[in-house]
Amino acid sequence: MSRKVIITVAPTGSIPTRKDNPALPITAEEVALETRRSYEAGASVVHLHARNPVTGEPTSDIKVYRDYLAAVRSACPIITQITTGGGATTLGLSPEERVRPVLELLPDSASLNSGSMNFGRKLFSNTPDVMELYARRMKEINVMPEFEIYDLSMLQNVDYWIRQGGILDPPYQFSFVLGVMGGIPPSIKNLLALVESTPAGCTWQVIGIGRHQIPLGITGAMLGGNLRVGFEDNVFLSKGVLAKSNAELVEKAVRIIRELGMEAASVEEARDTLPLLNKR
Ligand code: ZN
Repeated sequence: MSRKVIITVAPTGSIPTRKDNPALPITAEEVALETRRSYEAGASVVHLHARNPVTGEPTSDIKVYRDYLAAVRSACPIITQITTGGGATTLGLSPEERVRPVLELLPDSASLNSGSMNFGRKLFSNTPDVMELYARRMKEINVMPEFEIYDLSMLQNVDYWIRQGGILDPPYQFSFVLGVMGGIPPSIKNLLALVESTPAGCTWQVIGIGRHQIPLGITGAMLGGNLRVGFEDNVFLSKGVLAKSNAELVEKAVRIIRELGMEAASVEEARDTLPLLNKR
């Protein structure tokens, strides 16, 4: 049986605007439509950030998150994930404000950024206290944290504060984010270092920023991992060519994966593979 690769789509994020790509989805209807198209193309997880439906600016408004989730859930059975990080650098939210939509809306998963760093010119603050708070809260409500790893040190943070701290037992789901200014530079050598430091039995995906999205994501798939595509991390289909939709990026990933003898995982297969807390 061919190996199944879990594809996450991140259709919106908190940084790109319609100036970067006019197809950026902003309203709940647009986000749900993009998600359904991506699901039909082979994505099994969606990672969401809220935008003001009128201005397109990032927002922490719980109503927008509620509308997004309701629209996505009625559009397709994809696994849902909400950010806890986006509002930190763009909106200056407190740790409590960042996690509030997760606690109220109970997605399948939420991101858990695993250390503090410079994110571009801004401080992205994720102290051990914040990591512990989020992991504890998510465990209580059976929401799977996805540990976002922007550098090798962050794997150690998860091992020390979360595992040895006795807050949540492995297996964990990790995202290796390569190419953010301030994080680990995007290269296969650096991806290998991350993969080799990952505890056995854990699942992981690659988030390559910009033009690294597909090459590093596919490399991750060949190494036994999964990948994320979408406008949050990259708005181009190829050099100088904007993607017409998030689904087009999913289709590209699926095409390459198939050529390499692998297949995109269905939602059911992704649910079986990921260490989701709401299935234990
Ligand atoms: Zn995000």
